[in-house]
Amino acid sequence: MNDQSTYRADLRIDVGAIRHNVAVLAGHARRSGARTMAIVKSDGYGHGALTVARAALDSGAEWLGVASIAEALQLRRAGIDAPLLCWLYSQDEDITPVIGADVDVSASTVADLHRIATAASGLGRTARVHLKIDTGLNRSGCPAEQWPDLVDSAARAQTEGNVEVVAVWSHLACADEPGHPSIDMQADRFERAYEQAKQAGLRPLRHLANSAAVLTRPDLHFDLVRPGIAVYGLDPVPQAGDHGLRPAMTFRSSVTLTKRIAAGEGVSYGHSWTAEQPATLALVPVGYADGVPRALSGRMWVWLAGKRRPVVGRVCMDQLMVLCGDDAVSDGDEVVLFGPGDRTEPTAAEWADTLGTIHYEIVTGMYRPRVSRTVVETEAES
Ligand SMILES: *Cc1c(COP(=O)(O)O)cnc(C)c1O
Repeated sequence: MNDQSTYRADLRIDVGAIRHNVAVLAGHARRSGARTMAIVKSDGYGHGALTVARAALDSGAEWLGVASIAEALQLRRAGIDAPLLCWLYSQDEDITPVIGADVDVSASTVADLHRIATAASGLGRTARVHLKIDTGLNRSGCPAEQWPDLVDSAARAQTEGNVEVVAVWSHLACADEPGHPSIDMQADRFERAYEQAKQAGLRPLRHLANSAAVLTRPDLHFDLVRPGIAVYGLDPVPQAGDHGLRPAMTFRSSVTLTKRIAAGEGVSYGHSWTAEQPATLALVPVGYADGVPRALSGRMWVWLAGKRRPVVGRVCMDQLMVLCGDDAVSDGDEVVLFGPGDRTEPTAAEWADTLGTIHYEIVTGMYRPRVSRTVVETEAES
């Protein structure tokens, strides 16, 4: 795991961990007769969409899902030809390229459907469509009152030949709170919407489950599941037990300078921390411009020279200081800001807890202009 090179700021992406996680998730899905769509939106939650897409397709996922048109086209241009769904586009975006690239698209309104059918007919092909029912998230998706209209229009468009209705789908609001009453309510509404689609003459697949539901609600797996965060080894429902996932992202740097300071010396902007006794400090060349939130000042640790050590004083734009007591630390020593936690280093979940947010927000915000990303092939123990 320790290589000799030093990094200013590097995200180490363990594709072995991604393969392991996808195998775990696809295993859950398979036991309920479902297939797996790995969600690789937002550049694979900051891990690299293409790297993750390939690893996922290698390890049991048969579908991929992204939010935007640009994300879908990026995968197609890189040669990914697996079934791929994209579900977020605006009124003025041209959807012709994705339909031309054989990307499945979502429709929430009759107007969406018309746009899709028109684009497909211009290309002389059949667009693959997933009809989205809003079952209670109240974000995108078709409201229940308009659903009968949408499925009737879709059935007509399918007969006319420009559209193939592949699936009916929806998204859960509170799957990460197992037992939340909205989950069953959404599932009931989803069933009702599916029945209406069948009455309109459609025979679509069904998909509803995000990571949390893949792990806790096998009864909601239907034909296809859509795990995102769990692919990356971050558990959305840790309160429901250990699901055997392995975090794939490690954020690391290395020491660029060490120095002794005297008792009474203040450290970093504002002198928010003062040494009570003489100590060695290690300078780490990462800061809030590299994804270390300034709000973690005085509330974070790193792994350095064999153990967890506190960051003291303010996190600056480009650097932070680590308190090393009287221990021997040197230039070039590896610093782990967060990782899987195996070596007692902090995890993305720990950062999120301290900051009052979710690990999703931590990992998706890490890849930045000054941060490199290194893909490694560590074999995760399964
Ligand atoms: C992001 C997303 C997912 C994946 O959710 P996770 O909680 O990361 O598993 C699934 N479906 C839709 C529509 C999404 O936007």
